[in-house]
Amino acid sequence: MKFTVLSLFPDFIHSYFACSIAARGVNKGLLRYDAVDIRDFAHDVHRSCDDAPYGGGAGMVMKPDVLAEALHAVAAVGKRVVYPTPSGRPLSSAVIAELATERELFFVCGRYEGIDQRVLDRYVTDEISIGDYVIASGELAAMVIIDGVMRRVPGVISGESLQQESFEQGLLEYPHYTRPEEWDGERVPEVLLSGHHAKIEEWRFRKSVEKTLRVRPELLEQDRLEAAGLSAENRRTVMKILDSGGRDGLGKDD
Ligand code: SAM
Repeated sequence: MKFTVLSLFPDFIHSYFACSIAARGVNKGLLRYDAVDIRDFAHDVHRSCDDAPYGGGAGMVMKPDVLAEALHAVAAVGKRVVYPTPSGRPLSSAVIAELATERELFFVCGRYEGIDQRVLDRYVTDEISIGDYVIASGELAAMVIIDGVMRRVPGVISGESLQQESFEQGLLEYPHYTRPEEWDGERVPEVLLSGHHAKIEEWRFRKSVEKTLRVRPELLEQDRLEAAGLSAENRRTVMKILDSGGRDGLGKDD
């Protein structure tokens, strides 16, 4: 899969792809990326990419002519072009899964007040928000989206890791423990030491339900769980856990 990122600060993107899982994906040939400096398409000696907003007001706006040239130069026209913006549709596991079906994605990173609306209208296919807050940088938002997408590219991480995660079937993930068995007076829950796989699965499922109830109770609505792909049998188990005191017994360990 290829990511082409148009940015005023391409070093952010280079540093992302130089580390950890993304770097391994690149080395294995599973991921490719291009970090394009928007300033290379500026028209004046100062390499200006922004100008004052029509109508007045605070801040600067990224110029349409410069951005359009950059988008044409990387052959993004007619392709899937993402603009991360707080006013976009909310990022979710489903949005990431959908983007991950593409072979190539383009990102335009905003700065200042954002980019000229005419560029959005003509070239951008997806406006995506990483949350209900404003950060200074489209690069960080693009990296959040890329990070979610690239780990779904087959071979980048193990398929099992993906299935066992928060949101995959509508629930938040169960807690994890590792060695030592006892740390500072606190023991790992006995069931995890038992080697009894069915009991471990049952315990993890219950912990997932309890965590979801505590932190994101709205996710436990039956129609949401169904839409997220949780089986009818597991949805019945969720109801049983809730009815049998899951609502009261939260956080108590076995
Ligand atoms: N004036 C914009 C607004 O109120 O919606 C905020 C501009 S912000 C300071 C600069 C850039 O950061 C945006 O163009 C966008 O690319 C990125 N950005 C900021 N918050 C974001 C968010 N929650 N999701 C996605 N991108 C975001």
